Amino acid sequence: MALELTDTHCHIHEAVSHFTGKTETRERWQKDKKVGSSDELIADAKKDGVTRLVCVGTTLEDSKLAVEFVQSRDGCWASIGIHPHEASVHLDKASHAAFSALADKPKVVAVGECGLDYFYTHSPKEDQVKLLELQMELALQHDLPMIFHVREAFEDFWPVFDAHPGITGVIHSFSATSKELDQILKRGLYVGLNGIMTFTKDASQLAAAKAVPLDHLVVETDAPFLTPVPFRGTICEPKHVRVTAQFLANLRGEDLDSFAIATTRNAQQLFGIA
Ligand SMILES: [Zn+2]
Repeated sequence: MALELTDTHCHIHEAVSHFTGKTETRERWQKDKKVGSSDELIADAKKDGVTRLVCVGTTLEDSKLAVEFVQSRDGCWASIGIHPHEASVHLDKASHAAFSALADKPKVVAVGECGLDYFYTHSPKEDQVKLLELQMELALQHDLPMIFHVREAFEDFWPVFDAHPGITGVIHSFSATSKELDQILKRGLYVGLNGIMTFTKDASQLAAAKAVPLDHLVVETDAPFLTPVPFRGTICEPKHVRVTAQFLANLRGEDLDSFAIATTRNAQQLFGIA
């Protein structure tokens, strides 16, 4: 059986030419003249065994685009949410209603990425918490799992999470230590690992990556960001999930085939995808 990997977190819908929204991600895609169209990115990923992709929204406009993008594309699903960087811009009832309508569309499999980012703190902490709560309510109303972005903010994240029983999901781009990992696993959440692991020099991050139980691990790229070794210096594409998967399998003493089978099965269970 051919290898089947899943990129549980990418932003390739922003690489389509008709998207005019202004995001940091969009700028990154536009800057790289060598990168092909979104469809080429998908085709290249499939060639490398990355057969399933979750396209993750970061604003209302971007989430609409992600939902529209995946409708006609096999192996692609969408997640809708507002990134904590955008929290101060989007705190209103109208956008909540718009998200609610989006959540009912076909192939929408999660709410996110959302969470708390105290590393950059582009938005005030109170706004970030408020927005996270709203998105948790949205996820519960629509019975969807969540994709969480938590950076240097776990202390504030857990009380919000624990106040919303029934939430499931993944801590995306996990790069914390075993202490945070224990808290994640205690709550039954999945752990999303990406290219960071291939270039980090932090032994505690690698130790935590090694300790994630295989039945709670998923892989991702966060394309166009976080390009793994040996492709540093180029734009990150979903196909790069393969080298990250190989790196992690080696790190953990697993073979790539069983690693791919397990992580794809986890993604299917988490997002309810075929
Ligand atoms: Zn992302």
